[in-house]
Amino acid sequence: MDIKLFKNDLPEEFLNNIQSVAIDTEAMGLCPYRDRLCLAQFCKGDNISYLVQFDCFCKSYNICKLLTNKNVIKIFHFARFDVMMLYKYLGVMTENIYCTKIASRLVRTYTDKHSLKELCKSLLNIELAKTETCTDWGNLNLTEEQLKYAGEDVVYLHKLKEKLDILLIRENRTEVAQKCFDFLSTRIYFDLIVSQEYDIFKH
Ligand code: MN
Repeated sequence: MDIKLFKNDLPEEFLNNIQSVAIDTEAMGLCPYRDRLCLAQFCKGDNISYLVQFDCFCKSYNICKLLTNKNVIKIFHFARFDVMMLYKYLGVMTENIYCTKIASRLVRTYTDKHSLKELCKSLLNIELAKTETCTDWGNLNLTEEQLKYAGEDVVYLHKLKEKLDILLIRENRTEVAQKCFDFLSTRIYFDLIVSQEYDIFKH
């Protein structure tokens, strides 16, 4: 895996001839109002991770253009968090979302293990280290380990999508998966306006 590091935005060339992009984010924590977005990682499925480190949120023109482009599929693992953070900090709602965690929950109903590590292991036979989960992403000089960990979170998402798409077709759940992906922006709206788990479908 190759890693390229940028400040605040992707280079314009990254957007050329792009059809799909895997995206992940790292923040100071899990609370959108307390914990700022520190890093966003992007991969076009070619084993190169583009890491963008933020020290300001008003210079990400190419990222915003990419996120709002309806013709480009954005592949996430647990899109609910990443899309929320990108919306909160960059001010744009991501269009055309695919979430490997939702796809996995819809087809791998024989297990409750749907982490990225677990999916890479069972669908791709790849072991992720996952050692830097609790780390200071606000660090201005990210360590080699942090860069590698952050990069690895996006390089396998295209391959996972391929495998999960086959399972979605086999189980006849492609359409319901798409409806779940399309509903994410509404779900995120509630995540941002209410502080705790708020389920409008509850009795
Ligand atoms: Mn990550």
